[in-house]
Amino acid sequence: MTIERTLSIIKPDAVAKNVIGEIYDRFEKAGLRIVASRMEHLSAAKAGEFYAVHRERPFYNDLVAFMTSGPVMIQALEGEDAIAKNREVMGATNPADAAAGTIRADFAQTVDENAVHGSDGLDTARAEIEFFFGNDGVCPRTR
Ligand code: ATP
Ligand code: MG
Repeated sequence: MTIERTLSIIKPDAVAKNVIGEIYDRFEKAGLRIVASRMEHLSAAKAGEFYAVHRERPFYNDLVAFMTSGPVMIQALEGEDAIAKNREVMGATNPADAAAGTIRADFAQTVDENAVHGSDGLDTARAEIEFFFGNDGVCPRTR
């Protein structure tokens, strides 16, 4: 068990459903601490850069359009095995495959509007946190 940080995004569909608080509750109940948080309406350039790894995928343009369709809530989460734990709490990418009680099972209907993003590894977590919060935008929990 190691303390990790991961980057989480509540996507425009879930922000529009007004379930930010319910999703934060899931994170906190799972032992994840919010150590940075900001609402932002992403530009196409910023969303496109964030999802650059998917540039060649057929759904890339639709993904960027969706991610810029409304504001998102961006947060860094910290805790034991935070990367895997967050993905567990999120559920499978396609809500139809997501386990009962996960965020995607409860708040999303389709794979293209699936409520949340979570980093998928240590390197991407570090890079994604820096992408949104820079070098000094995370607040260590001192108590
Ligand atoms: P995320 O990166 O958002 O946490 P993920 O790691 O579970 O989700 P990825 O494979 O990284 O899934 O895909 C990134 C995002 O692209 C998905 O969350 C989803 O919004 C979208 N996506 C993935 N596959 C499809 C698809 N087949 N059709 C439409 N959109 C898709
Ligand atoms: Mg991913």
